[in-house]
Amino acid sequence: MHELSIAQNLVELVIEAAENTGMKRVHSVYLKLGVLSGVAREALEFSFDVVIQGTPLEGAKLVIEDVPVKVFCPACQEAHVLPEPFPMRCPVCGTRTSQVLEGLEMELFSLKGV
Ligand SMILES: [Zn+2]
Repeated sequence: MHELSIAQNLVELVIEAAENTGMKRVHSVYLKLGVLSGVAREALEFSFDVVIQGTPLEGAKLVIEDVPVKVFCPACQEAHVLPEPFPMRCPVCGTRTSQVLEGLEMELFSLKGV
């Protein structure tokens, strides 16, 4: 399963980040997940709970914030957030665009713990 290896990498990253900041116990892991990242949110949450067993992260909660797709419209010369990932058109003028600015990322952005 794709999400299992993503969860493993994430957990390694979190453990390293916690060590670097002197955090002994991580309670919550905050992750930004683009709707176009290709990662299934529920599968990732499930995998995270499995992977943290027996690690310093055991019992931690994964909090995922969905990042909507933001595109740059060449006609408006502006960035717009799309209400739905597809079709990829400017929501204001309808011009097709493939310049995705946000929505592809998976980013660890915060940890809470003691
Ligand atoms: Zn436009």
